[in-house]
Amino acid sequence: MSSHDEPTGNKALAERDLRVLWHPCTQMKDHEAHPPIPIRRGSGAWLEDFAGRRYLDAISSWWVNLFGHANPRINAAVAAQLETLEHVLLAGFTHEPAVTLAERLVAITPPGLSRCFYADNGSSAVEVALKMSFHYWQNQGQTGKTKFITLENSYHGETLGALAAGDVALYKATYRPLLMETLTAPSPDCFHRAPDESWEAYSRRRFEDMQRLLARHAHEVCAVIVEPLVQCAGYMRMYHPVYLSLLREACDRHGVHLIADEIAVGFGRTGTLFACEQAGISPDFLCLSKGLTGGYLPLAAVLTTDAVYQAFYDDYERLRAFLHSHSYTGNPLGCRAALATLDIFEEEDVLARNRALSARMARHAAPLADHPHVAEIRQHGMILAVELVQDKAARKPYPWQERRGRRVGQHALSRGVLLRPLGDVVYFMPPYVIDEEEIELMIRVAAEGIDRACKD
Ligand SMILES: *Cc1c(COP(=O)(O)O)cnc(C)c1O
Repeated sequence: MSSHDEPTGNKALAERDLRVLWHPCTQMKDHEAHPPIPIRRGSGAWLEDFAGRRYLDAISSWWVNLFGHANPRINAAVAAQLETLEHVLLAGFTHEPAVTLAERLVAITPPGLSRCFYADNGSSAVEVALKMSFHYWQNQGQTGKTKFITLENSYHGETLGALAAGDVALYKATYRPLLMETLTAPSPDCFHRAPDESWEAYSRRRFEDMQRLLARHAHEVCAVIVEPLVQCAGYMRMYHPVYLSLLREACDRHGVHLIADEIAVGFGRTGTLFACEQAGISPDFLCLSKGLTGGYLPLAAVLTTDAVYQAFYDDYERLRAFLHSHSYTGNPLGCRAALATLDIFEEEDVLARNRALSARMARHAAPLADHPHVAEIRQHGMILAVELVQDKAARKPYPWQERRGRRVGQHALSRGVLLRPLGDVVYFMPPYVIDEEEIELMIRVAAEGIDRACKD
């Protein structure tokens, strides 16, 4: 029997899957109890399996989808591109989607970012930014700058450089012997603020440690890398924009680059098109991926300044060029999906609609604040997180082995909502096409799941 004849019902496909696939971010043994869910099609905020069961995609398929599954407009753009050029190398050649997308990204990102270097996923964008910053200082004769400052609880991807720049122990600890050393500053994450302290006051206070680290180590530091406003993979912990303003000023004063990893928070997630806008700052490097293509295709871009670009621009024999490459750099299909995504931002008032949706999310989630096992509800725009704890007064977490958050996720699936809590943090990060009833459903089902998961 050829594979074309294989059955494709839910059960059959899950069984075939478990014979040959190895899934990302998964203990495969967990699938003995809960096999992977085969998805046949998607439409808007919904996914559908082979039995016709539907799941509301409340996490935008790992934070990538912005305007729904099978969006007619993005579909048409990618299909049209497919008729003319699927791919060409971007060294020595160029193509219209790559040029137009770079022009448009330069136009919409914070001022001063005038060059676009493409990669093909978020981790590789982070690698590009780290290497470019280091190499910039080398080209400037500052050969002692070899280190990076990162934030506690940050996440920048899974490749070795990106993993080294991050700090989530669950993903990092095992590989530590393989990773470059970084300098780590305490996170401005406001979960830990004093009960009567504002987000702003706490983020300011946390900056004092960063300030000291910069003062002591600037001579050996290439760049500080941060996720602006929300440490997404770090359990959706959030901080105040003032931290970014202070950081920009200090990086300038100490001669250190600022890398903003907006792979998760870019493209409207936090309420502004880019999170850096809320602090009124421009980074030296801006990393974009995930929502860049509306959730269609793997593509990434690193935006940087003319000052950085010029430090590499020289006669070939001087060997100053940035010789980094990925085979699928600037893939035309991905660029076309990104252009269609930007068209939607330009022609529809997405950010205004998102403000209304965010307010609706806040209103529906508010009653959860009184739940005896909810320590905090926090929100930046279209990201809302609910942190579960064993002891509310002491903010004592549940033993992680109990996997309470996972129980919430399993309950939600049984009710047709796709949630994927991070540890015991239940969060919502829906596509922007979600409507008010769907928001109501998503939060009601999560609340039920939280009740059940915290019962014993
Ligand atoms: C997802 C993510 C990455 C890594 O992107 P991949 O495409 O998964 O490699 C890096 N930084 C942040 C902030 C992310 O959320």
